[in-house]
Amino acid sequence: MIEDPRKVLKDIWGFDSFRPLQEDIIREVLAGHDVLALMPTGGGKSVCFQVPAICMPGVCIVVSPLIALMKDQVQNLKKRGVNALAIFSGMNPKEIDVAFDNCIHGNVKLLYVSPERLKTEMAQSRIAQMNVNLIAVDEAHCISQWGYDFRPAYLEIASLREMKPEVPVLALTATATPEVVEDIQNRLNFKAPNVLQKSFTRSNLAYVVLEEDDKLSKLENILRKVGGSAVVYARTRRLTVEVAKYLKVKGIVADHYHAGLSAEVRSQKQDAWLKGATRVIVATNAFGMGIDKPDVRSVVHLHLPDSLEAYFQEAGRAGRDGRKSYAVLLFNNEDKIALRRNLELNFPPFKEIQKVYSALGSYFQLAVGSGEGVSFDFEIGDFCKNFQLNPLSVHSCLKVLEQEGWIYLSDAFYMPSTFRVLVNREQLYDFQLRNPAVDPFIKTLLRTSSGAFGQFARLNEKHIATYLKTTTGKVQKVLMHLHKLKLIEYRPVKEKPQLTFLQPRVSGENLRIDREKYSFRKDRYEFRIKAAISYVEKKICRSAGLLRYFGEKSGPCGVCDVCLENAKRGYSAEDYRRYSAKILGLLAKEPLTEKELVESFASNRKENVLRTLEYLLDECKVSKQEGKIIASSEKQV
Ligand code: ADP
Repeated sequence: MIEDPRKVLKDIWGFDSFRPLQEDIIREVLAGHDVLALMPTGGGKSVCFQVPAICMPGVCIVVSPLIALMKDQVQNLKKRGVNALAIFSGMNPKEIDVAFDNCIHGNVKLLYVSPERLKTEMAQSRIAQMNVNLIAVDEAHCISQWGYDFRPAYLEIASLREMKPEVPVLALTATATPEVVEDIQNRLNFKAPNVLQKSFTRSNLAYVVLEEDDKLSKLENILRKVGGSAVVYARTRRLTVEVAKYLKVKGIVADHYHAGLSAEVRSQKQDAWLKGATRVIVATNAFGMGIDKPDVRSVVHLHLPDSLEAYFQEAGRAGRDGRKSYAVLLFNNEDKIALRRNLELNFPPFKEIQKVYSALGSYFQLAVGSGEGVSFDFEIGDFCKNFQLNPLSVHSCLKVLEQEGWIYLSDAFYMPSTFRVLVNREQLYDFQLRNPAVDPFIKTLLRTSSGAFGQFARLNEKHIATYLKTTTGKVQKVLMHLHKLKLIEYRPVKEKPQLTFLQPRVSGENLRIDREKYSFRKDRYEFRIKAAISYVEKKICRSAGLLRYFGEKSGPCGVCDVCLENAKRGYSAEDYRRYSAKILGLLAKEPLTEKELVESFASNRKENVLRTLEYLLDECKVSKQEGKIIASSEKQV
């Protein structure tokens, strides 16, 4: 029996109604159809699979690439009384085993899995036994080599489909160009094409692009003019620190944020910003995923991002509350040079990739032929220091190795300490009797963490230390000691990224890299940086330019820097509508040359006619052929 989605939305989330597209998506899913949902970030994507998962009997498998986000969602669902679980690399086999069992026999409604987990034999055999009601694919653009964030592990989702052919797929993304939209549906073996798209127009958001040599004082200027909460994106970790410092000196409450900080510090900084205690957060692109702050008034980029997909996502964090907000991009010629340099850096020579791969094998002491499916804590800084490698180049090589399916790198995520007792109660008691010095410690340990015989239980070193009036360091030492004695298995807290070998180690010279795919991805990268450069260089409406990139047609927004400049020169959005209607009317009768078109208007209108023509060409509403301009047929559009 299927429950009423509205009732579920009200009972579990307390929301009175669905947002417009949510209801359509859910209806399609409940009818058993595959759907690709395109919704800007903050549009409310998660409800689209969480509600059907609860309405239908069975469990929904959610494939998601970011462990931190997965854990957030699971926690939120649990708070609302919905049984949800996550499985990702870094968990030990026993934990994974228990989690899978719960999905088969328990009443788990949502199982979050990171894509590289799907490949494992355990996942395949256990999922086969589950009553799956929906396969939800979050960040679905990751399945496409055409997109800006291809992750080959996503291709494994197709095997889920083969295993559960009757189960519908709901793919969700906030960024997809038309090629990616098509590719996602193909790769996920959609039974029929089915795209539901929310317009990406953000009418309360003014996009502004400024060519600027002195970016810092311009930034200060902007933050003084536009009050309220802000995010400033900088290219490097070092810059985030420097820029935040600069702003603080100028009396603006700012802080920096990047992935190199510990999880605890990051969450403190994030909380202070969410609460409004920190007004401006200066961050690398590690900031923002999963953050839902409605009243951000400005997002400023101090560099040109290497894709409009990334830019649109980051800029879109401004003005979620619908109030007037700004997305400002400051660039100069150096940015363009840096982007072109990135192209070479991101696609290193094969020899370099082989070298890094071999170094990884030595670093983790993996013999040739071993290592498949094994995960390690991985700190890139330490690795580079060990082998005297350049971090930037290593980063690119790892990315290529990942895209070629050799390794999988997960984001840093927090895993609390756990332990389990390896002996039975009598043996432990006997040990306590013989070692009275550790007796109080063991008692406290067992009292503060229940159920540790056989199973892993969480433990908090700080709590134990407070209880025993000692230090956390000493508690850790005793735990290590008990671990060495094989009385307990102790897994200290983890917050490092994980590197997983997806295939057995091979020798460097046997490392296969598909050259054709490699150069295809390089071409796509070049296409994206060209689009980003064209975004800042072209004097057409910023919003229309961005939307066009994502395959959506729209006239000028009237509020971006180009539109405002045009308005100053006597060309408004209304003018655009009037001129374009007349031009399209003329072209519908016959193709005309640019000169003939201009001459159809009064002579003082020339500039406006040409400007309108530029928009129409950009929107593909007209095209140029053999010197004449022709109106595109609806089909072509
Ligand atoms: P996305 O994944 O698209 O970025 P989320 O699923 O995180 O977006 O949702 C963004 C915000 O919108 C969340 O705070 C969520 O609770 C809220 N939200 C989603 N659907 C509704 C709704 N129907 N009514 C009110 N708020 C909603």
